[in-house]
Amino acid sequence: MYYLKYRPKKIAEIDNDERRKLLASVFAKNADVPHAFLLVGPKGTGKTSTARIIAKILNCQKNAFADEKKELEPCNRCESCLAVNANRFLDVYELDAASNRGIDDVRALRDQVGYAPIQGRYKVYIIDEVHMLTREAFNALLKTLEEPPDFVVFILATTEPQKLPETITSRCLTVKFAKAKDEEIVISLKRIAKGEGLSVGTDVLAIIAGRSGGSFRDAAKLFELAVQTTDLSVEAVTTLLKNNVQEDPEELLRLILSKETDKAVAWLHAYAEAGGGSAFLIEELLSLLHDLLLSQKGALEKNGELPGLEKVRAADIGRLMKLLLEAYRESRFSPIDILPMLIVVVTYE
Ligand SMILES: [Zn+2]
Repeated sequence: MYYLKYRPKKIAEIDNDERRKLLASVFAKNADVPHAFLLVGPKGTGKTSTARIIAKILNCQKNAFADEKKELEPCNRCESCLAVNANRFLDVYELDAASNRGIDDVRALRDQVGYAPIQGRYKVYIIDEVHMLTREAFNALLKTLEEPPDFVVFILATTEPQKLPETITSRCLTVKFAKAKDEEIVISLKRIAKGEGLSVGTDVLAIIAGRSGGSFRDAAKLFELAVQTTDLSVEAVTTLLKNNVQEDPEELLRLILSKETDKAVAWLHAYAEAGGGSAFLIEELLSLLHDLLLSQKGALEKNGELPGLEKVRAADIGRLMKLLLEAYRESRFSPIDILPMLIVVVTYE
């Protein structure tokens, strides 16, 4: 899968400027390595890839801290790096707090944390969705965070940092992950295209980026689908992306304007579950409303009328457009992609 094959494997491959510079400075030669990192951001923004990069830098056999280079990078060729990439490095422990609220894992962690690493220089504990841990598990974790042995580094990841106790966050170096900008996703997709020897236009990649909801993972999946099923022309990819989501934005627009809130919420939920991104959806809705309004005012040559919506008042169209524009701006910073759209649906009346 492209998403796994082309996930960033070293700091230089992280497409977000801010995050790349922060990590480069953390791992500059002679810098003190923090004993706990907190990676915060929505899903699909690269937290797991970053955790692995950190685990590799800490254990790489080539770019050890004695290296002459100013900044440290994993070599991705030594036995340690390869083992981390293949998920079989004995000193990297990955816990998923979402699937298992963690108390047994954290107890086991606390009992074993004092033992020296088996294979590398550092034992790295990666705890995903750390906010899901039970209170008991948090307390157990806190005890180890307070005085970790020199050879232990914790990497905690979460989509909901506000649910973490201050006692945990204050002990971590926080690295924030925002949803990727379209330009950053296009750069990532170009790296995939180059790696696969594909010739594809930037306009096509931009269309895919616009549909990915700021998630590199979703963009890579859509791109892979496009490679498998289309000739990568603008027309074919646009059609594919339209068909890939079963729901029709016109239907949602009708539900909102007729104030069928329950149905509109259900529509949005199904749309998000199917992998639909909110930015694309809002663009589609605005474009429909734009045409509807111009058509009502006789300013549009083609017919932008939507059957059943001829009688909607221009003021109502304007009000909805305003809410959608707001949601469009907010969608970039929303921890849950569909949330700003959901707010539009429940506040429009
Ligand atoms: Zn290495």
